[in-house]
Amino acid sequence: MDPKYIRNFAIIAHIDHGKSTLSDRLLEMTGSLTAREMQAQVLDAMDLERERGITIKAHSVRMMYTARDGQTYQLNLIDTPGHVDFSYEVSRSLASCEGALLVVDASQGVEAQTLANAYLAINNGLEIIPVINKIDLPSADIPRTKEMIEQAVGLPADHAVPVSAKTGLGVDEILESIVHLLPHPKGHSDAPLQALIFDSWFDAYRGVIVLARIINGRMYKGQKIKLMSNGKVFDIENLGVLTPKPVEIESLSAGEVGFFVATIKNVADTKIGDTVTDANHPATGMLPGFEDIKSMVFAGLYTVDSHEHTLLRDALEKLRLNDSSFFFEPESSAALGFGFRCGFLGLLHMEIIQERLEREFNLDLITTAPGVRYKITMTDGSVLEVDNPSRWPDVTSIEKIEEPIITAMIMTNEEYVGGILKLVEEKRGKQKNFEYITPTRVMLTYELPLNEIVLDFYDRLKSVSRGYASLDYHLTGTWVSPMVKMDILVSGEPVDALSIIVHRDVAYERGKALVHKMKELIPRQMFEVAIQAAIGSKIVARETVTAIRKNVIAKCYGGDISRKRKLLEKQKEGKKRMKRIGKVDIPQEAFLAVLKIG
Ligand code: GDP
Ligand code: MG
Repeated sequence: MDPKYIRNFAIIAHIDHGKSTLSDRLLEMTGSLTAREMQAQVLDAMDLERERGITIKAHSVRMMYTARDGQTYQLNLIDTPGHVDFSYEVSRSLASCEGALLVVDASQGVEAQTLANAYLAINNGLEIIPVINKIDLPSADIPRTKEMIEQAVGLPADHAVPVSAKTGLGVDEILESIVHLLPHPKGHSDAPLQALIFDSWFDAYRGVIVLARIINGRMYKGQKIKLMSNGKVFDIENLGVLTPKPVEIESLSAGEVGFFVATIKNVADTKIGDTVTDANHPATGMLPGFEDIKSMVFAGLYTVDSHEHTLLRDALEKLRLNDSSFFFEPESSAALGFGFRCGFLGLLHMEIIQERLEREFNLDLITTAPGVRYKITMTDGSVLEVDNPSRWPDVTSIEKIEEPIITAMIMTNEEYVGGILKLVEEKRGKQKNFEYITPTRVMLTYELPLNEIVLDFYDRLKSVSRGYASLDYHLTGTWVSPMVKMDILVSGEPVDALSIIVHRDVAYERGKALVHKMKELIPRQMFEVAIQAAIGSKIVARETVTAIRKNVIAKCYGGDISRKRKLLEKQKEGKKRMKRIGKVDIPQEAFLAVLKIG
């Protein structure tokens, strides 16, 4: 299609402001789905997304729209996640668009991710159409929302479109605005092929599927393509577009978005941000691609059954293709055996990865206590980067420790400021800015140690503000801090996978809280189990899990076989996500106890 009649746009918003619902309405109004195919939030295809009601992956859909001027346009919609952990997905999506719809909930107003995502879009040079959503709600305040868009985001709001994504009211105006206000793509179909890979995933039946935006040139069935980062050559077997059903087509040309399947066998060959070109008529240069993403949170990942270790490696490789924002490398633990050290964008991301590995690959996993990466200068002048507490060097050889610092932007209503200030204080925060964006709405800027944020900060913030505070953050520097390693001993033996790094001033308190929580989480065994927290050789806290004697089989008196089997199966179920260390069964929750004591 002539690029003049193509519009590529993303929908960006704070979480829950209605992106997915709006996508549904746009699909319905352009006739992309019949009423029978329509189910709520069609684009959130993963079970996990539906259950949690959040979008994790960006999605891309082609719609055809005949505008009021009679011209038919091809609209490529990219739905994006809103949670701070997934902003990487957002920025990737934006790189394949010329415009964005910035959705703002008229009953909530501008939130932290509204701002963060709007800035991402502005920095990517996108044209933005503000959409004021949920105007069907009695609490909707259109003039105030417009004021906040102008004041806080700094975008003119005169062409903002008021809509209800739920009822469909006003949504047809969005379609007209897309066609008339957003620029069309600028590429040339007769130039050598340059396509930007912005997503890929592994399909059990079709193999590696790649989503790409064609910047210049043409892609067609049977074409020999070359991946410019590694020079590997493949044949295009199939290509198509998502409508959102996959529909095969013969070719894709400049400005279009679609998927292709090539003779790619190795999942690791496709790299997000890579440029695809024609092997016989290659382009001279690569597209800018994407910034490498930095992991913020690190944890060990182990299979409950150590025989499944290679299955886990396989699963990680496949999942990484779909989510290039996490990293992994082999590690081993004296307590847990062979596993992987993984880096994530945040805690929610870590939870999602663990859950996807378990569901999509049928694995039972244990995640160790999450932490951040420290830079340690040794007395001999050498510098180490340590994200695994079991690699923490001996204190006597440490010169200085630097911990990662984030700058956090918190948006809230005036009445919650008091509680939030107390919380950030407790978390070692330093105030950078305090600003009223409307008479009742406040924007706080703080520097905080990432180490404090990855634990339970988000939940605590939600609770002190009764949900009326939103948060966005990014890494901005380091502080030199007196961090210490705290070991946890189970029955007198240190368990490397339970060690954590804490600030010296809170170590004693955290140690006490941690062993107390573990005592609650470790089930009683046939014998007494001591749990101790220690810094170096100094024990700072101790609790005891008392013994029980319980033999469920004995109660069956050898009678009913099937009942016996059921009981055994039930016991086995209960053992899932438990790891035996020495003689003690330790459940997943105990490894994550550090998250529950902030
Ligand atoms: P997302 O996180 O931005 O994708 O938001 P969703 O589309 O999942 O919507 C979040 C919630 O807001 C859901 O419960 C929707 O039903 C609801 N919602 C979305 N749009 C509207 C609207 O226009 N009016 C009302 N009343 N509710 C809406
Ligand atoms: Mg959504």
